[in-house]
Amino acid sequence: MTPATQERTDLPALLNTARAASTPGSAVLASLIGGAAVPPDGDYTERISPASGQTLFRSGEGSSSLVDDAVSAARRSFETGAWGRATGRDRSRVLARAAQLIDDHTDELAQMLVLENGKPIREARGEVAATVNAFEYFSGLARDINGRTVRDINPDLFAFTMKEPAGVAGVIVPWNFPLGILGQKLPPALAAGCTAVIKPSPLTPLTSLAVVTLLYEAGIDQDAVSVILGGGQIGADLVAHPNVDVVTFTGSTTTGRHIAAHAGSVRLKRIALEAGGKTPVIVTVNADLDEVVEGLTFAAFFNQGQVCVAGSRILADAAIAEELAQQLGERAGKLRLGNPWSDSTQMGPLVSQNHFDGLQKTLTAAASEGTTVVAGGQAVTPQDTGAGPFLQPTVLWTEDDRATVTREEMFGPVTVVQSFDTLADAVHRANAQPFGLAASVWSNDIREALDATFALRTGTVWINGSTDAFPEIPLGGRRDSGYQAEFGREGMEFFTENKTVQINRGTGNGWYQS
Ligand code: NAD
Repeated sequence: MTPATQERTDLPALLNTARAASTPGSAVLASLIGGAAVPPDGDYTERISPASGQTLFRSGEGSSSLVDDAVSAARRSFETGAWGRATGRDRSRVLARAAQLIDDHTDELAQMLVLENGKPIREARGEVAATVNAFEYFSGLARDINGRTVRDINPDLFAFTMKEPAGVAGVIVPWNFPLGILGQKLPPALAAGCTAVIKPSPLTPLTSLAVVTLLYEAGIDQDAVSVILGGGQIGADLVAHPNVDVVTFTGSTTTGRHIAAHAGSVRLKRIALEAGGKTPVIVTVNADLDEVVEGLTFAAFFNQGQVCVAGSRILADAAIAEELAQQLGERAGKLRLGNPWSDSTQMGPLVSQNHFDGLQKTLTAAASEGTTVVAGGQAVTPQDTGAGPFLQPTVLWTEDDRATVTREEMFGPVTVVQSFDTLADAVHRANAQPFGLAASVWSNDIREALDATFALRTGTVWINGSTDAFPEIPLGGRRDSGYQAEFGREGMEFFTENKTVQINRGTGNGWYQS
C-alpha cells in the first residue's frame, strides 16, 4: 500500500493532514529534515485523536538513518552553515519573528493541540501563549551571552571566560504539553547558537512539526532544525549519537534513567533530565480554606492532571484535612467535563486509551489497599462529544504513606488527601519520597510557610500557589525528578560550553629558570 504522504510542510497543510483523519488510508505523517518532508519507511501505526475518537494520522517507527540525516544537517549548519555564523542579533531576530508567527497562528496551533492531545481549547490557547512568551524571552537573551573576567590572580595574568554554543542539541519532548515543553527547550538552544534535532512524542508530533515550519518561515537556516518522528528507539539513537553534543529530555523517570545510563555510551555529553514528579501539597491551619480549595482544584486537575507538577498528594493539618477533602471533592464534581472544542469545557479526555487503562488499574490497586474514594473515580462519557476516554476528577483519602497513590506519580485527574499532626512531620513525609520536582505550601503565616519551604527538598516550592512556570524563572527537579533546570538564564546556559582564556602579560612562569 502506498500511503498518501504529506507533500507540503506549511501549516495549513499540516492541519489538513491532521484533519484528513478518519478516511481509510489517511495521511502518513512525515519527518521534517533540513526543510524536506521525509516519509517513513516500513510499518506505520494509527494515532486515534482523543478529541474526535477517529484516526488523526499514521506515523512510522522511524529509523536510525533518519537520525543520521537530521544530525548531519544540524552539524553542517552548526559547523559551516548560516546558523553557526549567525550573530546574537541574527538569532534574536529569528526567534522574535518565530514568536510573532506562532502568535499569529494561535488558532491553528491550538486546534492541533486539541486534536493531538485532547486538552480543552482554552487550555490549548494558553499553551500557545506560553510558547510565544518563551520564544520572546529567549529572543532577548540571545543578545546577552557573556562570560566573566579575572584580573587579579597576579600582575602578569589576565583571564576571561567565554560561553560558546555547545553544538547539536537532541531535544526530546513528551505528550502532556507538546508545544509548551518544546518552548522550554528549543528557544534557549537556538538562542545559545546550537542547532537542534527534535524528537516529539509519537502521540503528539503535530505541533513540533508546525513550530519548525514557522521557524523556517521566520528565516532560520533549514538545516539548523529538524523533527524526527518515531518511538523510544529513535529517541535512544538520538541520545547516543556521536554527533549530538547535548541532550535535553522531558518525560518519565524510567526513560530518564535509561537516558542517564546510555547518553555517554559512545561519547560523553551533558544531559538535562526533566523527569517525573509527585508534588506534595502541604496545607496548614493558617491557610484560607476557600482559597486552598480553589487553588488545589487547579493544582490537581489542570490539563486533566497530566502535569509533572500536579498536586497529586495533599498533606493537610489533621484539624482541617477531612473538611478540605470533602470540599475539594465537591468542587471537583462541579468541573465541566466534555467536548474539548467548547470554550466552556474545563476538563477534556485523557491523552489515550492506554493511559486511561493504566490509571484505572492504579485506582483498582488503590481500592484494594484501603484507599477511600471521596469523589469521582469513574469513567464517564459526556454527551455531545466523540471525544474520550474521560475519567472523573478524583479525590481519594488514605493515611497510608506506603499506598501506591501516595508514592507514585498518577499523571491523571487523581489526587489523594492525607492528614498530618505537625508541620515537621508533613515536611519529613514529603521529603521521604524519591521525587524532588516541586512542592507547594499553603499558609498565611509567612514564618511557618518559609520554615517548610526551606526544609523541602524540591527544585521549586510555591507558597499559596501551584503549577505556574515563567520563562524568567528556572524550573527543574532533583533526585528521581532529574537535574538541570529549564527556563531562566540557567536554561539557556545549559546549551553553552565554557572556555577559559589565560593571557600572559609577562615572560612566562620561570619554572625551570630558578
Ligand atoms: P516518556 O518517558 O514515555 O516519553 C518522553 C519522550 O521520550 C517521548 O518523546 C518518547 O518517545 C521518548 N523516549 C522513550 N524512550 C526513550 C529512550 N529510551 N531514549 C530516548 N527517548 C525515549 O514520557 P511521556 O509518557 O511522554 O510523558 C509523561 C512523563 O513526562 C511523566 O512522567 C511526567 O512527569 C514527565 N514530565 C516531566 C516534566 C518535568 O518538567 N519534569 C514535564 C512534563 C512531563
